[in-house]
Amino acid sequence: MTRVIVDRNAGFCGGVRRAIRGTEELLSARSQEADRPRRILSYGQLVHNREVTDDLAAQGLEKLKSLEDAAREDAVVLRTHGISPQEEQLIRSRGADIHDLTCPRVKKLHRQIQEKRDTGYRIIIVGDAEHPEVRASLGHAGEKGMVVTSAAEVRRVPTGEKIAVFAQTTITPQSFQEVVALLESRGQEMIVVDSLCPFVLKRQRWIEKYSKLADACLILGGRNSSNTRKLHSLAAANGPAFHLSTAQELDVREILRYPVVALTAGASTSDHTIEAVLTRLQAAGALIEQR
Ligand code: SF4
Repeated sequence: MTRVIVDRNAGFCGGVRRAIRGTEELLSARSQEADRPRRILSYGQLVHNREVTDDLAAQGLEKLKSLEDAAREDAVVLRTHGISPQEEQLIRSRGADIHDLTCPRVKKLHRQIQEKRDTGYRIIIVGDAEHPEVRASLGHAGEKGMVVTSAAEVRRVPTGEKIAVFAQTTITPQSFQEVVALLESRGQEMIVVDSLCPFVLKRQRWIEKYSKLADACLILGGRNSSNTRKLHSLAAANGPAFHLSTAQELDVREILRYPVVALTAGASTSDHTIEAVLTRLQAAGALIEQR
């Protein structure tokens, strides 16, 4: 019989929960508006989870296709990753209301970046240059900012100035440390700000541990969710690892071939998705336990 060990902390992180709740409250308040309800728009996908965004769309959340489309009386929801000051200014200049649901941890990161920028530091952000959180952080860093994706890119960092090094909140401590160690070895004046998210770290540590104990891993979460993809790559380093974005993608027979399976989920995976996967596995005879 297959034993499925489930990460008891799997599922929505505090930032995602807060963003979904805030958007639902806004949508519900709008439904009370009498004759001409305002548009409620999200700039970019609110969370990296298709089921959640489909549900919010059914409640009336629309996508802001470009910043220029924001109009007077629209309500624009800012997602957990935040946006750059320039983008925020553009939305305000269109007369729209901003409902800022940026994760407080990301807000803190942006404040720290601005502080260091204003005191003359070059800002180094370690992460994926295409990720919305990193693009927003770069906007807060202004001309002083640059992104370093990996240790191989450290040579692009100018040597003649003091630097402040930040991490995208969802990268692994290993990849951050690799870049930091190389920068330190150059003897340049530098400050390192540990901006890694503890919610994400906890799950990374869990999957590192249990992927070694289990025969296979199941990772649930959106395909475009950076923290889910990292969980999957950590698990895959120790054996077979399956990344599912919905419960429908689960191949029960395949999973039941393994005696012990470890299951966790990215920060934007709903309890509903986790429960749907567990229900199917349990119905097929798997034993579920939480750790
Ligand atoms: S993963 Fe961390 S930083 Fe990102 S939204 Fe969740 S709590 Fe905030």
